[in-house]
Amino acid sequence: MPKLKDIKKNLIKDSMDNQSENSENQKLKELERQLERSGFFSHTTLSRQAERINEIESFLYGLIDTLNTKGLIEIPSFEQTVKIVRDETLRKKEHFHVGIGIRVDKQQEEKKVKVVNCGERIPICKAICCKLNFALSVPEIEDGKVKWDLGHPYFIRQKKNGYCSHLDTEKKCCSVYSDRPGICKKYSCADDDRIWKDFKKMELNTEWIEENLTEQKMKLREVYLIPEEKIEYKSKIK
Ligand code: SF4
Ligand code: SF4
Repeated sequence: MPKLKDIKKNLIKDSMDNQSENSENQKLKELERQLERSGFFSHTTLSRQAERINEIESFLYGLIDTLNTKGLIEIPSFEQTVKIVRDETLRKKEHFHVGIGIRVDKQQEEKKVKVVNCGERIPICKAICCKLNFALSVPEIEDGKVKWDLGHPYFIRQKKNGYCSHLDTEKKCCSVYSDRPGICKKYSCADDDRIWKDFKKMELNTEWIEENLTEQKMKLREVYLIPEEKIEYKSKIK
């Protein structure tokens, strides 16, 4: 007959195994969601590009044929003009790209950030600011300490419920605090009337939050942490 001590030991071991299995399952689920988003991003981007290219091609060939038939253009000089336009577009970096978003931090002097008593407010705000979206900067992407969303490169990775994937949901604190992105360091909700109707009285702007930051609404719109922060869309990061 097994001893009581051994039974206890086995029960603790089973419970620990279950916990680590659950956490592994969670990680796999998150990875699966990210891969799914990455696939959607690539397919959507490619489909949009293909549709636009097909349409432009039809218009362009139709136009060239019409002008050539009417004797309004000569093909060799037309080809020369096309080359000039192509070179100019590349030079001005106005060529079409797949839409990778990168945050470009302003060089000018930083404004002093208003300190907020988050500890007292978190039971009310539930760290709602960590649902606001933003793109990472090139150094942050390359540093690799903060995860970006495979379905929306290079924006911060968010969970299905809209919270940043780096928010410790139980403690409602940032799990990468010392390495958090520059934009998180710069943000203060003190003057953000999207979050607070009355900052001093700690009265949340529940209407705006419901309208913009619920799981369903977040799929439809982009709500940025600091809306005036510059995001550039590029075809690659360097
Ligand atoms: S910055 Fe504001 S919204 Fe964010 S956790 Fe602190 S009090 Fe809450
Ligand atoms: S990195 Fe940290 S501070 Fe920034 S949104 Fe995520 S959890 Fe919040």
